[in-house]
Amino acid sequence: MQIYFNNSLTKNKEEFKPIKNNQVGLYTCGPTVYGYPHIGNFRAYLTWDLLKRFLVSQNFTVTHIMNLTDVGHLVSDDDFGEDKLEKAAKREGKNAWEIAEFFIQDFKNSLKDLNILEPTHFVRATETINEQIEFVKVLEEKGFLYKTSDGLYFDTSKIADYGKIANIQNIDLQAGARIELNSEKKNITDFAVWKFSPADQKRDMEWESPWGTGFPGWHLECSVMSRMYLGDTFDIHTGGIDHLAIHHPNEMAQSEAVTGKLQANYWLHNEFLKFEGGKMSKSAGTFVTIENLKEKNISPLAYRYFVLLTHYRKALNFSQDALEAAQNALVNLVKTIANFNDGGQVDSASLEKFYSVLADDLNTPQAVAVLQEVLASDLADQDKLATVYQMDEVLGLDLKNLKTQILSLSAEVNDLLTQREQARSNKDWSLSDVLRVRLQSLGVEVEDTAVGQKAMRIKI
Ligand SMILES: [Zn+2]
Repeated sequence: MQIYFNNSLTKNKEEFKPIKNNQVGLYTCGPTVYGYPHIGNFRAYLTWDLLKRFLVSQNFTVTHIMNLTDVGHLVSDDDFGEDKLEKAAKREGKNAWEIAEFFIQDFKNSLKDLNILEPTHFVRATETINEQIEFVKVLEEKGFLYKTSDGLYFDTSKIADYGKIANIQNIDLQAGARIELNSEKKNITDFAVWKFSPADQKRDMEWESPWGTGFPGWHLECSVMSRMYLGDTFDIHTGGIDHLAIHHPNEMAQSEAVTGKLQANYWLHNEFLKFEGGKMSKSAGTFVTIENLKEKNISPLAYRYFVLLTHYRKALNFSQDALEAAQNALVNLVKTIANFNDGGQVDSASLEKFYSVLADDLNTPQAVAVLQEVLASDLADQDKLATVYQMDEVLGLDLKNLKTQILSLSAEVNDLLTQREQARSNKDWSLSDVLRVRLQSLGVEVEDTAVGQKAMRIKI
């Protein structure tokens, strides 16, 4: 099947052709591990998980690398201000290593909640300091760097088409463009590849280097890790649209400066999750975490379903109502398949249609619509189930488990069901109704069918 992606690099929809036949090198910019991410951050990881699952369904072997930024990301993306981890450490009365450890675990737990497959390799920035120093040495030898009082900077004017991915190469990078925050920068877009530790301060994370004690700039790790694991040029580089203006142009510039080659052939960016038209922010009280969803009895998988309902390149508007509607739709889906038995055949025509809409730049809303069509079709129930399960290998809603979950009833519930069955055979309808209400209060819905009672849990 031909697969097409909207490539941010060329601004075109292009047919996907991997460098090596059926193998794909995929790099995803990961989180900075200094705090709880909001659910908007996970839109990216959900999107790239779907991309990976889809490629696997098309018989590609995917090597997926994700970095974990545990050093060097400053409060401003522009190499200014405190290191986010060192700042969090001070606030929490811990050190930066403990902060990293804690939030890496938290991030991994959230991926599990969202049924996101872990990358082939998670790589921490602090695990590749030597490789990053070696990379900077090459940049220095090739004449791309200059030194200021606070670090080594990359001179972006030395890359002819710097910023091509973000359409920023035409701005005047020279005269009058210096920013006040760092008057030693030659061009507004220059960025640090190595920052010096402040003279009067011992950082939790700092290393010796040929240029002085310090730490790597936050763009560096992605250039270094992607090259280590995927080679000079690899297939697909993904990230949130927030990386389009600064982080990705800088990664590309460093990589091209060192290798003389394009870092990746396809660059995919997902749009933001918006909260009432704006960004999620702590100060506006619109910062929602995975934990917050659970507190409100929203399953992280319902959030996954919600994300699938909008194409990744369109802004997604978050509201509690829309999320609850998505959760209800998912519950209904699971209830429908709860009545179906295993052992059916996959309907290949439906599956082909499902794959073909995803092959068109990951059209997930259409893919969900195809799945719903299968449920509404006149296929045999068993075949519907087999087909839906096959589709779920890509959608990742974990339907098999959700089905088991809503059908698994506690001993207490089973006991009430037996009592109710007894009441019904005694034609004691009022007791039967009382027991139904009791069951409802335990989150269980009971339906009377020709073959007896059918009970399942209401919530996922
Ligand atoms: Zn990156």
